[in-house]
Amino acid sequence: MRENAINGYDVIIVGGGPAGLCAAMYAGRGMLKAVTIERGAPGGELLNTDLIEDYIGFESIKGWDLAVKMSEHAKKFGAEIVTDTVERIRKVDDGWFDVVTSRGALYRAPAVILTAGGTPVKLGVPGEQDYAAKGVSYCAVCDGAFFKGEVLAVVGGGDAAVEEADYLTRYASKVYIVHRRDQLRASKILQQRVFANPKIEMIWNKRVVEIKGTGQAVDHLLLADAITGDPVRLRVGGVFIFIGFKPNTGVIEGHVKHDAAGYLITDEKMMTSIPGLFAAGDVRSQVTRQITTAVGDATTAAIAVEKYLAALREKEKAAVGS
Ligand code: NAP
Repeated sequence: MRENAINGYDVIIVGGGPAGLCAAMYAGRGMLKAVTIERGAPGGELLNTDLIEDYIGFESIKGWDLAVKMSEHAKKFGAEIVTDTVERIRKVDDGWFDVVTSRGALYRAPAVILTAGGTPVKLGVPGEQDYAAKGVSYCAVCDGAFFKGEVLAVVGGGDAAVEEADYLTRYASKVYIVHRRDQLRASKILQQRVFANPKIEMIWNKRVVEIKGTGQAVDHLLLADAITGDPVRLRVGGVFIFIGFKPNTGVIEGHVKHDAAGYLITDEKMMTSIPGLFAAGDVRSQVTRQITTAVGDATTAAIAVEKYLAALREKEKAAVGS
């Protein structure tokens, strides 16, 4: 299969969200030959976000618009973006990486920057799978408009839950935020916004036990009090679940250092415990995961790749000379 490998790249960037696109732009500026492999449209989580209000320099911009701007900017510096799904990343004996895609392509390069983001965490309760796309959703921007005039529940207490609950009030007549504790994890500014929104009601200290419906649509949630265990029935036409992200690191073959939640541990150059494998954005273990941190990681990673490859070439030259 190696004979069919697509060679000639200095670095393979896996994922085309803000981190991937920024890495592609810096790789281009650094005259590296790079390919960015993205399974969907470039933009990643930006495409699931309505308005971005915390990306410095853009007081308010639509997620889609920022995605297009980032992608065009990367392309201006020569980014090659391929639509395909990476299935496996493996460092082989010659020190290079094999990156295998679902279309059967094998890309080879001496460095990889993994910017594959994460996948929404599931509640894991009965009814969640049965009502997926029938009232259970993980993306307010994608599905909110289907719930005009309905009563909705949002599950979670982090930035995503409160931000998306606020967004859903454009369509819904009322939005409950169901949280398992009596305090939100979300940032203060986002908390203030939801507390000031008359369409949002907090339901504290409750866990979702089951999602029930008519077979075709969600009809109510069964909740349990987190302290007493007392059951509560909550009538809703849909439920949006925002209880965190799981990093997409399963494509890496072999052991790579990670934290307890599965996020990749890197050094200050964004290099993982596998030399030549760099990580940036939501896959990386860090305090917060914002667009600003993703592009910061990616900048460091792309510049560090340049230095890593230069050192590698020096080493190879020295080995030939000795
Ligand atoms: P998060 O910050 O990890 O919050 C997850 C929330 O879900 C927490 O409130 C947690 O409760 C709750 N939760 C977790 N497992 C649960 C379960 N099994 N049942 C019920 N509730 C559960 O995740 P996130 O909101 O997706 O944000 C992820 C990262 O993206 C964060 O770093 C965040 O700052 C960032 N982000 C930023 C913005 C922005 O700034 N505009 C927007 C979206 C996301 P506990 O609090 O009790 O643990």
